[in-house]
Amino acid sequence: MPSEMNNIAPEQLFRLRKLCHQLCALSCVDWKRRGLHNELLKQRPHWSVLKRDEEFCKIEQGETVPFDIALPLPARDPNRLDSDQGVKLFWETFKCQHCGKCCYTPGAGLYLEAHDFDRIAEHVGKKRLKTLCKYDKKIKGWVLKQPCPFYDLEKKECNIYYIRPQTCAKYPLHPPVKEIPYNLAVDAFCPAARELVKETLSWWIICENNWARLLSRMRE
Ligand code: SF4
Ligand code: SF4
Repeated sequence: MPSEMNNIAPEQLFRLRKLCHQLCALSCVDWKRRGLHNELLKQRPHWSVLKRDEEFCKIEQGETVPFDIALPLPARDPNRLDSDQGVKLFWETFKCQHCGKCCYTPGAGLYLEAHDFDRIAEHVGKKRLKTLCKYDKKIKGWVLKQPCPFYDLEKKECNIYYIRPQTCAKYPLHPPVKEIPYNLAVDAFCPAARELVKETLSWWIICENNWARLLSRMRE
């Protein structure tokens, strides 16, 4: 981080990130898309380069340990219609490896929103869909068993791709992590997400520059 950011209290950093999300979210996506982080990296050393191996090692742990990773991309702001630039750049950059791990890995189950359940039931029949799900009384909703019964292991594809649940369509995006609620986050289990996290580590230099700029303005 720039020297101005050293010794900054966690609460202040949290406020800066919030302010940055309100003021800089659109411009920072544009800078990242245009590769301006490369110019900044030439000007000063950055942890994404200095600690590259250490960071990569942490990221790779996602293959076996469940956790989410924050990305240097702004999450949607529910109060602004034009705040989907971060999500757009995510999908422009993300390259699914079609490994199918998100579909056939055994797990607790995949929650279906009511509209997911109705849409899929229309296609496969309500009775059959219920046999592929379990009803969760706590959340009052249907949960699709995992490994997913709709994944075709031979063809390596989803049999209901065009009507798949919302959670699948958004994957590997997960809700933002608690400590960094203004940024997009991904499930570290997905190999393509881990690659994207590695590729975009240096994008944080743009965020950090923005935070430092806002901090010095606040101190003036
Ligand atoms: S785990 Fe990730 S890379 Fe593999 S199919 Fe799912 S989204 Fe694609
Ligand atoms: S519904 Fe389709 S995309 Fe979703 S987990 Fe099942 S096979 Fe994968």
